[in-house]
Amino acid sequence: MAKILIIEDEISIAELEKDYLELSGFDVDMEHEGISGLKKALEVEYDLIILDLMLPGMDGFEICRKIREEKDVPVLMVSAKKDDIDKIRGLGLGADDYVTKPFSPSELVARVKAHLARYERLVGSNVQKNDTVEIRGLKIDKTARRVWVNGEERQFTTKEFDLLTFLAENPNHVYSKDELFRRIWDMESIGDIATVTVHIKKIREKIEFDTAKPQYIETIWGVGYRFKV
Ligand code: CA
Repeated sequence: MAKILIIEDEISIAELEKDYLELSGFDVDMEHEGISGLKKALEVEYDLIILDLMLPGMDGFEICRKIREEKDVPVLMVSAKKDDIDKIRGLGLGADDYVTKPFSPSELVARVKAHLARYERLVGSNVQKNDTVEIRGLKIDKTARRVWVNGEERQFTTKEFDLLTFLAENPNHVYSKDELFRRIWDMESIGDIATVTVHIKKIREKIEFDTAKPQYIETIWGVGYRFKV
């Protein structure tokens, strides 16, 4: 069953949309505020998101932009003003469709169905999807070589990225500094296992909330490092 998220602060409209979508067999969640809406959109895997533009907390423009940084889920934007629709188009936020209020619920359902069908065709046709690793708030896009921590992008050097990705892809396995150095740095590299320590420190500064109490890369004293899941 397709899962849909409605982010809409007008409760009566949200309820109406929900009722119609549920009647059509969709599984629907609602959020009535911008920040909680974005959080839900990023945390839960939805098949489509219906996003109102004017919201308390964070507006639909910002939410759409942030969703797009991480996900390619279809976003259907809803606005009361025709002008806003032009603005959405102009900003190139990556919204997939726009609906102006007032709209009929059956029109909304028809749009939702059309988008889901199109998206399924795209995904089903084996469109190159980015290879990602996601562990709690950490997301690594291996194809684009980008990293996000709780939705915020962080910059990594090539070796930092390789080391982080290697550990994250092999969680709960303890690696010695020697082994990590051999795997990540090629033989001609100048450096030694102290390089590994320096890189781990830099990675921690970028991904850990508190580097003294690492949540991701744990030090196993006298042995090496382990990525915790
Ligand atoms: Ca609104």
